[in-house]
Amino acid sequence: MNREPSSQPVAEHRSERVTESKKDISAPDGLPVPSRNWALFLDFDGTLVDLAPKPDLVEVPAGLTELLQKLFTQLDGALAIVTGRELCDVDGFLALMLPGAGIHGAELRRKMGGAPIVMDDSRGLADVIAELEPLIASDPRLILQRKSAAFTLHYRLAPEREAEMRDLAARAIRGHDNLELMSGKMMVEVKPKGANKGTGMERLMQASPFSHRMPVFIGDDITDEDGFKFVKNHAGLAIKVGNGMSSAGHRLASPAAVYEWLVDMSAYFERKQGQ
Ligand SMILES: [Mg+2]
Repeated sequence: MNREPSSQPVAEHRSERVTESKKDISAPDGLPVPSRNWALFLDFDGTLVDLAPKPDLVEVPAGLTELLQKLFTQLDGALAIVTGRELCDVDGFLALMLPGAGIHGAELRRKMGGAPIVMDDSRGLADVIAELEPLIASDPRLILQRKSAAFTLHYRLAPEREAEMRDLAARAIRGHDNLELMSGKMMVEVKPKGANKGTGMERLMQASPFSHRMPVFIGDDITDEDGFKFVKNHAGLAIKVGNGMSSAGHRLASPAAVYEWLVDMSAYFERKQGQ
């Protein structure tokens, strides 16, 4: 497997495009030819959609839902969303109830259309929110996003308050040993201790149709590093979107580059099917 150093620059998407006559699919950044034996795990924000000033404002690219539906079928159901959001939130954007791990692995849905199940202990969350809310209420730029088993404090619109928000959240969870903080892009999350995207994928991989497949994970944030570690420990493929330090062995430049690669992947599977 290709394992470039983590400091590598983002490759120009398609700069290494290989023509059909030489190879069956374009291979940006040395990505291997796809296999229908992959278990494909996709982060949502910053990976399938561009980040937005507020979580509710992300825009789903035209054709993405149809593309994911098609890949889901082509991979015999082994396609899942692995996100910090609640799965029902992503369902709403995609108009599709894909399998997945939500809330950084604390929530699980093994089959398309199933009800998500909270897997980890989130006791005390309401008390932490009750302590924090009055402290941030005077600044409308701070957004507290509630989830069933966690919450996220977004400060994207007030970046100068970053250190203060992290301190506040750290103080609010004192005495709640089952909870922990996780930092991401312009946000801090309070979630069940130990839950992360790696544990989410591990749980999905325990059952059909994910088990016995090669895990492939695409993500963009520091919170995706647990997922990269998991797939690398299982001889899988870790793909980082955009710049920044990462343990992932591969890069795609942007959500648009992810989309193009997925389109190529689906077309490749279709051609193979027809042969
Ligand atoms: Mg992300």
